[in-house]
Amino acid sequence: QLKGQAAIVTGSTSGIGQAMARALARQGVDVVLNGFGEAAAIESDRAALEAETGVRVRYHSADMFKPEQIAELVAFAQAEFGRLDILVNNAGIQHVAPVEDFPPAKWDAIIAINLSSVFHATQAAVPIMKAQGRGRIVNLASAHGLVASPFKSAYVAAKHGVVGFTKSVALELARTDITVNAICPGYVKTPLVEAQITDQAKARNMPVDRVLEDVILAAQPNKRFVEYDHLAGLLLYLVSDMGGSTTGAALSVDGGWTAA
Ligand code: NAD
Repeated sequence: QLKGQAAIVTGSTSGIGQAMARALARQGVDVVLNGFGEAAAIESDRAALEAETGVRVRYHSADMFKPEQIAELVAFAQAEFGRLDILVNNAGIQHVAPVEDFPPAKWDAIIAINLSSVFHATQAAVPIMKAQGRGRIVNLASAHGLVASPFKSAYVAAKHGVVGFTKSVALELARTDITVNAICPGYVKTPLVEAQITDQAKARNMPVDRVLEDVILAAQPNKRFVEYDHLAGLLLYLVSDMGGSTTGAALSVDGGWTAA
């Protein structure tokens, strides 16, 4: 059913984005990958995904900090595939520090990459989706789009912003067949989280092994990291025709975290 559609997944050279791009490609969706990394590694991952799935897989290096490059990314997808059906706004960064020590440049980067990029990509994609008469926008927010933790002021502000933006644009597009939703994962063991374990240890003055148990999985009642497939399952539902009535939703995949 998704075969022949075209998608962009921002921040798909690592972690969740890479898993989301793979899940879409395996359903027959042409995909534009995006994100940072070593050129040779990105190209070998791109070629491997194309060989495995038989879909067209392209790469664009747009920096989500730069609005004009985000517009270029969207134009690139349309030029390469002649259409754009699915936009997954996934790129994100984290910085953990008490507010009084929080570097202003980090605040600006987190707001730009985690929140403003979602606006810029959506703004570029919506006219294409409107012209096609259908579209699916899925934003990777976080449990931190719904509840907070200390030392993550910029991230929590940005992710709450993503949830609010998702709702507002969903209402604007409610009469069309373009849906806009946010996925709110709990902890997934990606490179972003591995780095946080070290940063949390510093901010909380705690040994690294205790952070995992007392801080990271303390928030997650099922005491397990969220698996990529559990996120991919929701993504595939949202982008399918079966997801047609789900819009403006912030959907938790967090092992019970935000139920507590
Ligand atoms: P990750 O660090 O593994 O991957 C982030 C991706 O974004 C990489 O491909 C990176 O190159 C890319 N990226 C970073 N800055 C960029 C920029 N300026 N321009 C373009 N690409 C850029 O992180 P992840 O854990 O896979 O996180 C993906 C998304 O999921 C993020 O929005 C994150 O906030 C969210 N999230 C993660 C978790 C978790 O536990 N890992 C939980 C909830 C939400």
